[in-house]
Amino acid sequence: KLLLQVKDLRAVIAESKQEILKGVNLVVYEGEVHAIMGKNGSGKSTFSKVLVGHPDYEVTGGSIIFKGENLLDMEPEERSLAGLFMSFQSPVEIPGVSNIDFLNMAYNARRRKLGLPELGPIEFYGYISPKLDLVNMKIEFLNRNVNEGFSGGERKRNEILQLAVLGADLAILDEIDSGLDVDALEDVAKAVNGLLTQKNSVLMITHYIRLLKSIKPTYIHIMEDGRIVKTGDITIAKILEKDGYKAISAA
Ligand code: ADP
Ligand code: MG
Ligand code: MG
Repeated sequence: KLLLQVKDLRAVIAESKQEILKGVNLVVYEGEVHAIMGKNGSGKSTFSKVLVGHPDYEVTGGSIIFKGENLLDMEPEERSLAGLFMSFQSPVEIPGVSNIDFLNMAYNARRRKLGLPELGPIEFYGYISPKLDLVNMKIEFLNRNVNEGFSGGERKRNEILQLAVLGADLAILDEIDSGLDVDALEDVAKAVNGLLTQKNSVLMITHYIRLLKSIKPTYIHIMEDGRIVKTGDITIAKILEKDGYKAISAA
């Protein structure tokens, strides 16, 4: 079943009106894993942020249909409620707020919107505890303040934990592998694989073929200057690894 359809999407930076996305086309069906690769500055992060409705960007053309609805008519919060996930990790530490409280608040906000009763601290503890195994996190991690002294690996695991807590039909993971050592990368990959079902999909942005060996993508897309210029399977990533982006553009 069709999940996401992006047609000729154009977007500019809100402030400067500089065009970054110059006609992106992408179709994602339920259960698929899509990887987007591309040089630095090609527009990958902009694309993911435009999907979730980041205010830094303005859509100037094209369409995004998500689960049959016009995503562009929806506020960022509504998009998230509709089943679109992107890590909401703030880069800052939040003194005095523990990670578990933060996740509990985020989850309760979701439940309120869905008309479900909120979970108190003890219930939420019961809900989140089994999910810690998935990301290979110790229970003490939940009691640390948000982002306080998180290592790169812990931040990334925390992103996946957020995803596990909130759930999503389409999870957008932007450079989930950056700065991870091999063990952390395997943990993150295992966690993402553990969350994948027949029904939900992942759109992941990555520079590294390593991750694609663990989370097997249905399709790999290459983004270049604000467009997806090539789509294929793992062979694209192998060409990339061997000969760089030049080889892809020419192929
Ligand atoms: P990628 O994720 O592929 O490395 P980005 O989407 O982050 O690329 O950026 C694409 C281009 O748009 C870059 O040249 C970047 O500097 C520019 N850009 C993106 N967002 C902004 C912004 N908010 N303000 C100014 N320039 C931006
Ligand atoms: Mg970049
Ligand atoms: Mg980026």
